[in-house]
Amino acid sequence: MSSRTELTFCRICEATCGLKATIEGNRVVALEPDHDHMVTKGYSCIKGLRYHEIHHSPDRLRVPLKRIGDRFEEISWDQALEEIGAKVRQLVNDHGGDSVSAYLGNPISFSLLPPILTSAFLQGLGSRNLFQTGSQDCNNKFAAAQRVYGFPFIQPFPDIDRTQCLIMIGSNPAVSRSSFMQLPDPIRRLRAIERRGGTVFLVNPRRTETAKQMGTQVFIRPDTDLYFLLSFLSSAATRSITSVSAAT
Ligand code: SF4
Repeated sequence: MSSRTELTFCRICEATCGLKATIEGNRVVALEPDHDHMVTKGYSCIKGLRYHEIHHSPDRLRVPLKRIGDRFEEISWDQALEEIGAKVRQLVNDHGGDSVSAYLGNPISFSLLPPILTSAFLQGLGSRNLFQTGSQDCNNKFAAAQRVYGFPFIQPFPDIDRTQCLIMIGSNPAVSRSSFMQLPDPIRRLRAIERRGGTVFLVNPRRTETAKQMGTQVFIRPDTDLYFLLSFLSSAATRSITSVSAAT
């Protein structure tokens, strides 16, 4: 079967790495990094390169399943919408809109429409309860942006490629890929700081996978970040610091 190559990008995290997809018929048979991508320049991680296996997995849910006893039975979309709709209506009538919540996982959070439509759906029900992966580790950034800039999605990113001294608090980019900082290929770009004579401090209670590869580890007692930051702010050393990151 003949194959063709399409340019695309990974939707799993904010780094949105450029990829090349090899397609046979209607199947993606391989994903590889796009070395000509102007931002990610051939960088990608194993999650993105194997994503077609999830897309074509036989375990993927493609039809509604209803639990009947200890097994799941396939039902039609009409039946699913009717039964679930009736249940949701009953919950809202009996307990109010906040009795319904939604959770957006990853990567659906990075699709355009699901977060917008889920948010509108909950607003229509009168619910304030929308949760997502960020509810566990980074909602504070959105709340701070709302207060500082007036909109939660306006986020400041450190200018890593021009930074001379970087302090990363609680970050482990070798694992997280620093996707929240929109920083594809983070280890290469952090090493570049050291190569141009700068310093990268990694503040963490444990020796992270990142610290094993680069940077200067600064151990910290858990739950003392506040004191660290306060003492840091009052120190004259802050004058020479150009970037502080607390991204995951
Ligand atoms: S870092 Fe990995 S998961 Fe994130 S966009 Fe790139 S390939 Fe996808």
